[in-house]
Amino acid sequence: MKPSFFTIDPALQAVSDRALERCRTAFESIADITRYNQQKVLSAFIHHRVSEAHLGWSTGYGYDDNGRETLEKVWAESMGAEDALIRHNFMSGTHTLTVALFGVLRPGDTMLCLTGRPYDTLIGVLGIDEKVSGSLADFGIHFEQVELDENGHVNRQAVREALSCKRYKMAYIQRSRGYSLRDSLRVAEIKELCELVKEVSPDTIVMVDNCYGEFVEEKEPTQVGADLMAGSLIKNAGGGIAPTGGYIAGRKDLVEQCAYRLTAPGVGREIGATLGHNRELFMGVFAAPHTVGEALKTAVYASALFEELGYAVTPRVNEPRGDIIQAVVLGNREALIAFCKGMQSGAPVDSFVTPQPWDMPGYDDQVIMAAGTFTLGASIELSADAPLREPFAAWMQGGLNFDSAQAGVLLAAQKMVDDGFLKL
Ligand SMILES: *Cc1c(COP(=O)(O)O)cnc(C)c1O
Repeated sequence: MKPSFFTIDPALQAVSDRALERCRTAFESIADITRYNQQKVLSAFIHHRVSEAHLGWSTGYGYDDNGRETLEKVWAESMGAEDALIRHNFMSGTHTLTVALFGVLRPGDTMLCLTGRPYDTLIGVLGIDEKVSGSLADFGIHFEQVELDENGHVNRQAVREALSCKRYKMAYIQRSRGYSLRDSLRVAEIKELCELVKEVSPDTIVMVDNCYGEFVEEKEPTQVGADLMAGSLIKNAGGGIAPTGGYIAGRKDLVEQCAYRLTAPGVGREIGATLGHNRELFMGVFAAPHTVGEALKTAVYASALFEELGYAVTPRVNEPRGDIIQAVVLGNREALIAFCKGMQSGAPVDSFVTPQPWDMPGYDDQVIMAAGTFTLGASIELSADAPLREPFAAWMQGGLNFDSAQAGVLLAAQKMVDDGFLKL
C-alpha cells in the first residue's frame, strides 16, 4: 500500500513515481558500494576484536582507554590508512582540519590548494582575506591556490607548473564541492593528483579535506596516495549517530604530529577521556556506510525529481558522485524559500518551524536553511542550505533513511506547488 500521510498533488506524485523509475540504475550501484563498505567496516571490527569492554567510559586523563584506542585502529583500517585519530573532542570539521594543518605546517611553510578557494569556514583559519589573530598566516604559514579551470576542474597544468617552480610543504585538496556548482572530486581524480604531486615534488604532503566524502566510493583518499585527510563525525563518518566529533587519518608520523597539536607535544594521543562516548562513536562508525548509502539515494532521487520538474540539477541522476551533496537550481528567491520551508515541514524534529533567511556571520548574502535534525547542525541528516543570491540554488544533503528523506524532498516540491512556483 502506498503511504498517504501527507497531501501530495496527484500530478506531483506521478512525477515522483517517474523520477523513482529513473533512479534504478544509480540505486543499484549505491547498493553495491554500501555492501562493500559495510563489510569493510565490519571486518575491521572483527579484526580488532571489538568487545563489550570497549564501549565503556574513561574520565580524567583517559589513560589506557581501550575503547578509544581500539576505535582508532578500527577507523584507520576502515579508511585504509596507517593510523587515525577519531575523537569526540574535535568540535567540528573546521576544528579537525585546523588541528591537522597546525599539526603539520611550520612557520615559513607554504601550502598550495589545488582546488581553488577553500570552504568558507577555512578562510579565517588560513587568514587569507584579512588578518586573523592566531590564523596560519599569523604564524608565518603561507597560502596559495591554483584556480579551477572554466569547467570547474582542477587545472593540472597549472598545478604542475606551480610545484615545479617552488617548494610547497603541502598540497591541499578539497573533495566536496562545498557551496559551489563545481563537481566534487572522484577518488580516481584524487589519485591522479597525488601521483602528479609526488612526481613533481615527492616531499610535498598531500592532504585532503574529506568532508562529505567518506564511503561514497569504495576507496578513500588515503588509499590512493593522500598522506593525510580529515572529516567530521556529524557528516558521513559518524553515521548519524555520533553526536559530535571528527577524525584525522593518514601516515603514522603525520597523525602523531596532529595528536601533538590536539593535546600537547610529547603527550599526543595517550590522553583524552571519552566520557561515555565510545559506544556512540563505535555505533556511528558502524552505521556510516549504510547511512551514507541512504543519503546518496536521497540525493539521487532529488536530482531525478527536480530534473523531471524542469530544474537544472547537479549532479544529474546517473552522474558519478564524489560526495553526498545535491544542488538544485531553483532560479528565484521565493521558490528557494518555499523549497526550504517544504523540506523543513517533512523533518522528524522541528517540522512545525518555518525557516527564515538570516544574516549568517561570515557570509555576504542572507542564508536560509532547512534542518530538522536530532543532532544540531548534522548535515548527514536531511538538510538544505541556500545563500540567497544568483542562481538561487539549494544545496541539500543527508537523509538518515531514504523512506523518510524521500518524503522530505517530495514535500519541498509540494510546497513550491502550493505557493504557486511550480505548475504541473
Ligand atoms: C562541512 C565542511 C567543512 C567544515 O566543517 P564544519 O563541521 O562545518 O566546521 C569543511 N570543508 C568542507 C568541504 C565541508 O563540507
